[in-house]
Amino acid sequence: MLKLTFLGTSAGVPTKQRNVTALAVESLNPYASNTQNTTQSKKSRPWVLVDCGEGTQQQLLHTKLSLHQLQAICITHVHGDHCYGLPGLLASTAMSGRREPLIIVAPKAIATLLEAVTLTTELYFPFVINFMAIEDLLSESDEGNKTQVTITLDNQHQLTIGIYPLSHRVASYGFAITQTISRRALNTDKLTADGIPASALWGKLQQGEDVVTEDGRTLYSADYVDNNSQRTKVMVAGDNDTPECLSAAVVDADLLVHEATYTHEVLNKIQAKNPDFDPMHSSAQSVGQFAQENSVKNLILTHFSARYQRFDNPHSDTPNMAHIRLDAQSAYQGNLWLAADFDQYMVNGAADLVSAEEGSRVQYLGSARDNHS
Ligand SMILES: [Zn+2]
Ligand SMILES: [Zn+2]
Repeated sequence: MLKLTFLGTSAGVPTKQRNVTALAVESLNPYASNTQNTTQSKKSRPWVLVDCGEGTQQQLLHTKLSLHQLQAICITHVHGDHCYGLPGLLASTAMSGRREPLIIVAPKAIATLLEAVTLTTELYFPFVINFMAIEDLLSESDEGNKTQVTITLDNQHQLTIGIYPLSHRVASYGFAITQTISRRALNTDKLTADGIPASALWGKLQQGEDVVTEDGRTLYSADYVDNNSQRTKVMVAGDNDTPECLSAAVVDADLLVHEATYTHEVLNKIQAKNPDFDPMHSSAQSVGQFAQENSVKNLILTHFSARYQRFDNPHSDTPNMAHIRLDAQSAYQGNLWLAADFDQYMVNGAADLVSAEEGSRVQYLGSARDNHS
């Protein structure tokens, strides 16, 4: 299960109601035991931050997210509304006493930005930053224009971050975040049928050990243990004017999170007014059309131009969320949400195993700010 908390949903500049872009993706393991070590505890809530606009650390204060459990920061591109918050967030992380290494997956230029800030402001990090330049990852990849980073949280819980190039004014990327939870399920019916009563042997078999019973029978773990794995995948795009860049990435995704900076009408006007400058953003309609054509069942739009007010009234002359919503719905019939700051969603890739209800893989949870502050 992946839990998303939107920390900023405005494009370019912040508004009173929306900060600039950042999204927290928590990787929750519902099967983890509280009694085992802390990395497997239910209290453990490892998370990944995608983009870090200015003020992201202030937004985090309204949530339960802990900088100590942050595993990786992924930056989609170098525009300031996606990365100006990074130096401040890292400085506060340093002051929080964190010592564990931190992964940063970002365009190479972000390393230059951090070097300049650390040098000029005498900033020191008491933890290792494992910086992975996306350009290097892609050039070293033998999968062509695609690569991934793997984060092993424990022996049953793994995250991979797939990286997909997009189309924007500067190099921009999307991150496919996939959680895999592997479980060894003991086939107790078979054990009982074979006359093996519950004992410590069951635990050993479940752990993968072959055992010998008191009466000398050898029991092979593989005969009594089913390996299940549960997978949840969310595709989080950076700024992008060509959603089709993600057609391969969304095939098996439970959810697509994509920018929709304008309605198609406003985008056309902006492009016509200044033919020399294309903002290279998507309209809600173009993302909706892509999602419809690629059978994306769950779509969250974000990164709205500051001109759109947060209320939803299709009859108002003031640009607002209804205009974005209707623009997307003119092409898309799936489950659609328009993100607001602090909105939380639970994504459960295995949800349709327990419920046939369409779209049950994504659940809107409410606001992190209302719940926790
Ligand atoms: Zn942006
Ligand atoms: Zn941008």
